[in-house]
Amino acid sequence: MKFALDEAKKASDNSEVPVGCVIVKKDEIISSTHNMMKGNLNQTEHAEIIAIRVACQELKSGYLEECDLYVTLEPCIMCAAAISFARVRRVYCGALDTKSGGIYNNTKLFYGKKGLHYIPDHYNGFLEKQSEAMLKNFFTKRRQGGA
Ligand SMILES: [Zn+2]
Repeated sequence: MKFALDEAKKASDNSEVPVGCVIVKKDEIISSTHNMMKGNLNQTEHAEIIAIRVACQELKSGYLEECDLYVTLEPCIMCAAAISFARVRRVYCGALDTKSGGIYNNTKLFYGKKGLHYIPDHYNGFLEKQSEAMLKNFFTKRRQGGA
């Protein structure tokens, strides 16, 4: 999660919403990414989507069954669905996202029958305060016209 937080910082440095994501397989980092919506002019370029794409390319597989994903902010519904489709083994979240989160908030995609064939194990609260603080600082700066 520390590495995911480092990625979030990189996003922030590029005026992107600071969310970082790391995918690990057998104690080895397979992909380490951050949000790139602004830089790539694409609203699907969330840290998790990029991390899944890079990990699949790295492992030459469409599935990430032995992989664990660490992300500094609760995934949105798009990313939660992608995590399920990619069959990621476990998801570790930092800050919760009461506005746009898709696992613990809103649609709660991993709870109940929501059309997903696979539900990863999922946990929250990892470096939550630090992840939250980075997001709060970013949005405060942006409101003040600094980002
Ligand atoms: Zn997302």
